[in-house]
Amino acid sequence: MLGLMQDQPLLISHIITHAARHHGAAEVVSKTVEGGIHRYAYTDVERRSRRLARALQALDVRAGDRVATLAWNGYRHLELYYGVSGMAAVCHTINPRLSADDIVFIMRDAGDVLLFAETSFAGLVEAVAERLAGQVRAVVMMADRDRMPSLALPSGMALLCYEELIAAADEEYVWPGFDERMAASLCYTSGTTGRPKGVLYSHRSSLLHAYAISMADVIGLRAVDRFLPVVPMFHVNAWGTPYAGPMCGATLVMPGRHLDGASLAGLMNDERVSMSAGVPTVWLGLLQHLRASGQLLHTVQRITVGGSACPRMLFEAFATEYGVRVEHAWGMTETSPVGAYNAPRPSNAQLTGEAAMAVRVKQGRVPYGIDMRIVDDTGATLPHDGMRSGHLQVRGAWVCSAYFGEAPGSALDAEGWFATGDVASIDADGYMEITDRSKDVIKSGGEWISSIQLENIAVSHPDVAEAAIVAAKHPKWDERPLLLVVARPGRSIDKDAVLRVYEGRVPKWWLPDAVVVVDELPHTATGKLQKAALRARFRDYLIEQELLNGNSGKE
Ligand code: ADP
Repeated sequence: MLGLMQDQPLLISHIITHAARHHGAAEVVSKTVEGGIHRYAYTDVERRSRRLARALQALDVRAGDRVATLAWNGYRHLELYYGVSGMAAVCHTINPRLSADDIVFIMRDAGDVLLFAETSFAGLVEAVAERLAGQVRAVVMMADRDRMPSLALPSGMALLCYEELIAAADEEYVWPGFDERMAASLCYTSGTTGRPKGVLYSHRSSLLHAYAISMADVIGLRAVDRFLPVVPMFHVNAWGTPYAGPMCGATLVMPGRHLDGASLAGLMNDERVSMSAGVPTVWLGLLQHLRASGQLLHTVQRITVGGSACPRMLFEAFATEYGVRVEHAWGMTETSPVGAYNAPRPSNAQLTGEAAMAVRVKQGRVPYGIDMRIVDDTGATLPHDGMRSGHLQVRGAWVCSAYFGEAPGSALDAEGWFATGDVASIDADGYMEITDRSKDVIKSGGEWISSIQLENIAVSHPDVAEAAIVAAKHPKWDERPLLLVVARPGRSIDKDAVLRVYEGRVPKWWLPDAVVVVDELPHTATGKLQKAALRARFRDYLIEQELLNGNSGKE
């Protein structure tokens, strides 16, 4: 027997019509490429998104067509999120920090028919346009007529002006209804291992994920919140917050292109921001700025940190110096991205000091809708005892089933689990802790050493700005950890002193075999350490040192 309830598909257009009808006065505030502040209400977002959908129709964009964006977090990008997906086309956000070659590869793979770009990417557009001739029909610069750059585009590729398109379109458009499983947006992994792969989100998965992150034990946005997504709209849909914000009636404060500490602190205070989300490097930059300038954060209550392991000092420094609660989250492009969030349970809510911190630094527990487990090298499931580490697998309604262009289900094992490529432990309370990427784990004498844990401890030394642990070949132990460190500006590194920070914090056999001071460490387009490049460079370091020094093994 079927239930007798209304059958309303979960569509992205419903989020913005809801926001316009019921939170019409809530604002979207954007720092623009031109430098000024733009502000308007959700009613305007909805109205202009409808005009955009009409303009896309006029440009012959059909259901399922991919429409690419090269844009910062701002109001026009938000209109593209709703206008493109709302008319059943696919909003393909591109990471502008990728190389021109990668962008061409991604746009060809996706088969994008239009490209919307901010004026600050005019040079990048020119660098890729020639190689997309015959595929991309038009480049739409996200600006008004006065700010249109003159671009050399190949023949057959029109140069259009966003504001002219919006002005020329009417508002008679009615958001269409369709199957909620239709594709809504597309995001490529940043290709730290091999070529980037497309993850194709559906309306249903995006809506369920937006509901999930709105729960009180996840990001938990409220109508009274003024939320600043530092995490870019060009990577994993800014963690779903451009959907969750309007869903909850929260105000969105869009930071544009400048994400340095001074710009963020200024915007947070000026716009009375209550919550924010971003990767650890951004928060380290903000912290450095606040400490150096003496500026305070007057309204920020909580920040969500994910994308890489959040160093313990960020939890402590923001809480004690600025009264801001830092919350840890885990996810990946393939999980929309939120797969785990660290919120208290009755068993740990009353803990204080060290005991509390030991829980807070973990990546978190699953929200309803996601399941997770760890398995060993043979695929056997491991206990959730907080001790054993294994390959982390997930499944759920917003986990990818196949990469773009591949057969549904092809990214899953026979039981429907998706292998994350992360190595983690899960404790009896369900808190998952990432110990490594599968490729980065150090296998010393058959035992695993967590590179993330060793890196986090290294950065707790006051002279260390950044640290990376790589597996170096070792004649006896197979692999041993090698510590690469970048000194803080104006400081020099005493290698022995750095090694002393490990005392009592990890087993003795985890201690790095050597410390190498480097000027800088390479990063991916999403700000993560490029471990593969470091491994290639330092793989033989210990063996070479041994030959040079004529000693045998450990330093
Ligand atoms: P990429 O940036 O390579 O495209 P994603 O943005 O999808 O990839 O990043 C996913 C990966 O980032 C995860 O598999 C995990 O390794 C890492 N990651 C994300 N959040 C955390 C976290 N809180 N702690 C440690 N690692 C994390």
